[in-house]
Amino acid sequence: MGFAVRNNVDLTSANTLRLPVHAQYYCEVYVDEEIAEAIAYAEARDLSLTILGDGSNVVLPPRIEGLTLHMRSQAITQEENLITAASGVNWHSLVMRLCEDGLCGLENLAGIPGSVGAAPVQNIGAYGVQVEETIVSVGVYDRLDGCTRVLSRDDCCFGYRDSIFKGAHRDRLIVTRVSFALSDHFEPITSYRDLQGADVTTPLSMATLVTRVRKGKLPDPTTTPNVGSFFKNPVLSESTYTAFRLTHPEAPEGVTSDAGTKIHAAWLIEQCGLKGHRVGGAMVSSQHALVIVNAGKATYRDIRLLAAHVQDVVSDRFNLSLEFEPTFYGN
Ligand SMILES: Cc1cc2nc3c(=O)[nH]c(=O)nc-3n(C[C@H](O)[C@H](O)[C@H](O)COP(=O)(O)OP(=O)(O)OC[C@H]3O[C@@H](n4cnc5c(N)ncnc54)[C@H](O)[C@@H]3O)c2cc1C
Repeated sequence: MGFAVRNNVDLTSANTLRLPVHAQYYCEVYVDEEIAEAIAYAEARDLSLTILGDGSNVVLPPRIEGLTLHMRSQAITQEENLITAASGVNWHSLVMRLCEDGLCGLENLAGIPGSVGAAPVQNIGAYGVQVEETIVSVGVYDRLDGCTRVLSRDDCCFGYRDSIFKGAHRDRLIVTRVSFALSDHFEPITSYRDLQGADVTTPLSMATLVTRVRKGKLPDPTTTPNVGSFFKNPVLSESTYTAFRLTHPEAPEGVTSDAGTKIHAAWLIEQCGLKGHRVGGAMVSSQHALVIVNAGKATYRDIRLLAAHVQDVVSDRFNLSLEFEPTFYGN
């Protein structure tokens, strides 16, 4: 494909919120060697670097200063049940292909937009499964020393919508490939409300069902631009959860794990009457309270103001703070 840097590139169609965005400099990277070339290019000109996948979990400012690197590598290799996919591979296509081959473990994560390289960044999860459960290692390019290395699952410090890539080493570690250990043995995970009682006998039938359920629940980003859940579900300590339930016995029950009890951010937002609330072109989806949509000509500022408003209202009413799920760029 050849490494080429372009300037003043319109990325409006490269982010699923469809915010009007221009990158000062932009290049697509198809092979690992081009990462080093891109970084050398940026360093020689003292440019900052922004890593972009399919733009389905970012809130981008009107202008991204520096060099934006779009990960596009497409290789997929397989050794028995160990699958390694390059960061630019489309996530949903990979899941469907593996499910068609009878490989199990990713079927509940079908239908999530985005690229393979971004999957470990926020440890994508849905319908009772998180991607960390099948990841064995993540290949990275480390900008600190210009070396490529392989991180184990433990090295990645996965948490709820969190990892080392989102926190301490954001913009330092560039994910180049992800390896997954899958199984031949299908054990359907149907604990999630929408899947309970589902009659599924193969990973493909589960992936197809999950995709259908998702389509009915979430606004479609191709017609109603959005980034999926805008807020994480708050995770409460035992004592805080007990106090919350005493004050709000009508709230849906939380889900308890070692980390604490996760409660439903969508319920909190809905109770505040925020569904359909607008700031300029940004709106809390009337279909799903966790989603902020671009209802027409929304600006970066509209999205920021609306998101902050939701946080403030929920905090005033419930004394709980909501954390953003997508990554914000700009000020
Ligand atoms: C309709 C809809 C539904 C969604 N549902 C879910 C869901 O159920 N569960 C869920 O977890 N998420 C969900 N999401 C969020 C999103 O799909 C995921 O977070 C996805 O993994 C983002 O992939 P991307 O390629 O678009 O990443 P981008 O949005 O391009 O990037 C996201 C972040 O990852 C970083 N990044 C991207 N690629 C790399 C790389 N190769 N190396 C290092 N950093 C990188 C970027 O710098 C950025 O900070 C949903 C989004 C939408 C629009």
